[in-house]
Amino acid sequence: MSSSATLDLDTLMRTGDVCRGEISVAALAALQDRLLDAVGSLAWQASVLRDLHGRPRVRLALEGTLVLQCQRCLLPMPHDVAHGWQVGVVETEALLPELEEEEEDVDFIVAANPVSVMRLVEEELLLSLPMMPRHETAACHGPEGRADKVVPARASPFAGLDKLRKP
Ligand SMILES: [Zn+2]
Repeated sequence: MSSSATLDLDTLMRTGDVCRGEISVAALAALQDRLLDAVGSLAWQASVLRDLHGRPRVRLALEGTLVLQCQRCLLPMPHDVAHGWQVGVVETEALLPELEEEEEDVDFIVAANPVSVMRLVEEELLLSLPMMPRHETAACHGPEGRADKVVPARASPFAGLDKLRKP
């Protein structure tokens, strides 16, 4: 399905329909400098609820794999995305909720109807992807990763001495 999919909040809020589609990773312009390789696509699913104040709230789920770059060894690091979140939508800044009214798990954005799925996905991924992605130490090919693996062996004679010294 097209990467330019939009959600008609008024209609979806009324019908409760669930929309589905796919976004090509290469089309996620805002994320390109966080990705090592823009391959594949992410599957998304969205529905729209009406919150207690009558405002549309988009409930989204995203699934797929992104290729990040391990910040230790600089090699590709597949990052599985299986993420669900909600975002409130208001049409003008004046309608943004006061801080104290804002619910902890829901962020609000200002957007005109219909809302771009791409924008919602990009904004959420920018916030939720790890800032410093790193392989697990044992799976990392970097100098530090190897060093981590070597240290216990190299240290073992001393570890033995330490044991002898301790009562
Ligand atoms: Zn690594």
